[in-house]
Amino acid sequence: MYNSRIKTLVHHHDRYRRSVLNLQASENFMIPDARKVLSSDLASRYSHIDDAGINSYGGSSFAEEILLETENLTNKVFNSRYCDVRPVGGHIAALSALLSFVSKGDTIMSIPSSKGGYPGYDQDYLPSMMGVRSVHIPYDYEKQVIDYDEMEMVARKEGVRCIVLGQSAFLKSYDLRRIKEIASSMPTDAKIIYDGSHVMGLIAGGVFQTDALKYSDVIVGSTHKSFYGPQGGLILSNDPSIMETVRKNITWKTMDNYHPNRIAALGITMEDFLTSGKKYASLVVKNSRELGQSLHERGVGVRFAPWFSETHQILISHDYLRENGLDFVSFSRLMESNGIIVDRDGRIGTSEISHHGYSDMKIISELMERALKRENVKARVKDVVHGILNGAVTK
Ligand SMILES: *Cc1c(COP(=O)(O)O)cnc(C)c1O
Repeated sequence: MYNSRIKTLVHHHDRYRRSVLNLQASENFMIPDARKVLSSDLASRYSHIDDAGINSYGGSSFAEEILLETENLTNKVFNSRYCDVRPVGGHIAALSALLSFVSKGDTIMSIPSSKGGYPGYDQDYLPSMMGVRSVHIPYDYEKQVIDYDEMEMVARKEGVRCIVLGQSAFLKSYDLRRIKEIASSMPTDAKIIYDGSHVMGLIAGGVFQTDALKYSDVIVGSTHKSFYGPQGGLILSNDPSIMETVRKNITWKTMDNYHPNRIAALGITMEDFLTSGKKYASLVVKNSRELGQSLHERGVGVRFAPWFSETHQILISHDYLRENGLDFVSFSRLMESNGIIVDRDGRIGTSEISHHGYSDMKIISELMERALKRENVKARVKDVVHGILNGAVTK
């Protein structure tokens, strides 16, 4: 038997991540049953049903049933009529949906990444790759709202074919009914893609943008951010012809193998979500608001007081960090040296701790404040994490 350096590194990683407090908005904790099937035999299998209804691979009957059942469960969880769970990520789900609505030379509209939008929709990325033009949705960052009148004007002037909603720094829902009115009154009959990557768990839990499916043509998103499944993507729609088109833009266009082990893990997560999802999602949102409030009361600069957030994330104030000699990157490193994991974009997320059932935001804010004052709280953080993982949580 060879001596595996990688195996050792994975072991170190696992042990390390079990000792730190994860407040990364893009991540979550998978339930053990779901995690387990990721290393099942399915991990090295293919299964693909062609247009004639024949699976191109043998030995796939259970894999077929797993895919079908996971789709049924997904529709139940999201209250959708149709879904496709094959996209291997939110990005691929978005690309597959975009390919269904726009052609070379068309114009799409999205919130720029400079205002919290997903960088993939900025001109240099998906739009350039697809030969489409991307214009900005007018967005008032200070209020965290779209300027709908201005949006209508720009959409008409630019002949927009597709409106892409959703953000990576995502705090507030939209007036989707208004956006739907704008889209359907356009001569181009613009389509609406709602990219719920960050908020899929909150949409499924019925605590955020509950009208997303009603007013958009498709929802695309990740399955591993506020939704606590394996890393992957999915597409939802209530429109059969749209879904048929989208499905045609997956196999051999945006991907081939969809990783059947991931589907099994997603299906197990869906089963769990049906019983635990609503309670989880409510706690996520409550925790964000309380963490924002609690940090604010301690004098730590959090954006958008007094409401802070409607989602799983809050944003640390860049001005506040600067006054303390920090930026997003050095803030993240300072937290990391204390065993608190946040990203380098200033987002703080409550999905993972909420999934563990944790709700004492006063303790988290205290630890963050002390770390910001350059106190070493690493040992204390480790204690708290130990408590969380052993279920000794304050509910
Ligand atoms: C994270 C994110 C994506 C990409 O999702 P992956 O699952 O990492 O491919 C797409 N859109 C938005 C808004 C995101 O936040």
